[in-house]
Amino acid sequence: MTRSKNWDNIETDEKERIVGMTQGPRVAAALTAIGLCSIAPLQAQAPMVKTQAPGYYRMMLGDVEITALLDGTANLPIKEFLNGVTAAEVDHALAHAFMKDPVELSINAFLVNTGTKLVLIDSGDGGHMDPGTGHLIENLKAAGYEPAQVDEIYISHMHGDHIGGLSRNGERLFPNAVVRASRQEADYWLKAENLAAASDDAKPGFQHAIEWLEPYVKAGKFLPFDGDVTLVRGVRAIGTHGHTPGHTCYLIESRGNRLLAVGDLVHVEAVQFPKPQVTLKFDTDNNAARAERLRVFHEAAENREWIAAAHLSFPGLGHIRSDGAGYDWVPASYSVPH
Ligand SMILES: [Zn+2]
Ligand SMILES: [Zn+2]
Repeated sequence: MTRSKNWDNIETDEKERIVGMTQGPRVAAALTAIGLCSIAPLQAQAPMVKTQAPGYYRMMLGDVEITALLDGTANLPIKEFLNGVTAAEVDHALAHAFMKDPVELSINAFLVNTGTKLVLIDSGDGGHMDPGTGHLIENLKAAGYEPAQVDEIYISHMHGDHIGGLSRNGERLFPNAVVRASRQEADYWLKAENLAAASDDAKPGFQHAIEWLEPYVKAGKFLPFDGDVTLVRGVRAIGTHGHTPGHTCYLIESRGNRLLAVGDLVHVEAVQFPKPQVTLKFDTDNNAARAERLRVFHEAAENREWIAAAHLSFPGLGHIRSDGAGYDWVPASYSVPH
C-alpha cells in the first residue's frame, strides 16, 4: 500500500487498522514460508463443533461382517468399583495410561452380519444410565442398517447397560428380532421371587430387566437357551458365569477366524490387563468372574483371537497379548474393510 500524502491527518486508530491490513498477509506469508501456516490470515471465528464421527467401526472376520456400534460413554469412578487393588495402584495404572479417575468408559454393542442373519450382541444402555448414552440406533442407521432388519439379539447379561436399548415405553425397538440369553441369566433377573427377595438397592436392576424384556416376552420373541450352543451358523454361546449368574460370551467363527464378544468380562483396560485378578464390586461372584477372565485372556492370547468388548474404548475390538505376569490390550489397527 502506498501511503497518501494525507497520512499525517489520519487518526491513530485508523492508522493501526490500515497497518494491520497490510501486515496480516505478510505475517501469513512468512509463516507459510517456514511451514507453520498454510492458510491466510488470523481470523478463526468459526464456532467449535465438538462432536465425533458417527459411532460405528467395521471389520471383516472371514466372510462375516462385524460392525461395532457405540451407544455412548459414561464416566465411572472406578476406584469405588474395583476390588483387590489399592487406590494408589489404580492411580498409578491410570497415570501410566495417561488417564485418571473417573474413567470415560465406552458402551459398545456389535452387529454381526453372517450373510444370512443379522445378529446384534447387546443393545446398549438406551440413555437410562447416563445422558451420554442412548445413541445405538442412530449409529446403527449411520452404519447402513435399520432396526427392523435385526433378526436376533444375543444378550451377554442383563445389567441395564446391555439391555436398556431393547425397548422404550413398552415398545420393542427391534420389531422383528428374537432376543436370546442364557436361561441362568433369564431365571435370575426375570423371576418375580428374585425381585421380591432383593435388597432395596438391588431391586431396580431386577425391575429394569423385567420391564425392558417384557415386550419381547409378551410377543413370544424371547427365547432363553441352555448351555454352550450354536445359535446361528457361525455364532456360539460360551458360558462365562461370574460377573452375573448367566454371563455369556459369543464366539463368532468364519474361515478359521475367531472373534469372541466378551461382554463385561473386562471393564478397565488400564487396570485389568496388567492385573486381570482385579474384580468389580458389582460382580455377583468375584471368584468365578476372576477365573473366567483369566481363562479367556489366556486362551485369547494363545489362540491370537479377536476380542470384542462392551466397555473397552470404542470400538472395543482388538487382541490380547501376554506380557509376563499380566496382559496387554492391542486395539485394532484402523482398516478399511474389503
Ligand atoms: Zn455388567
Ligand atoms: Zn456393562
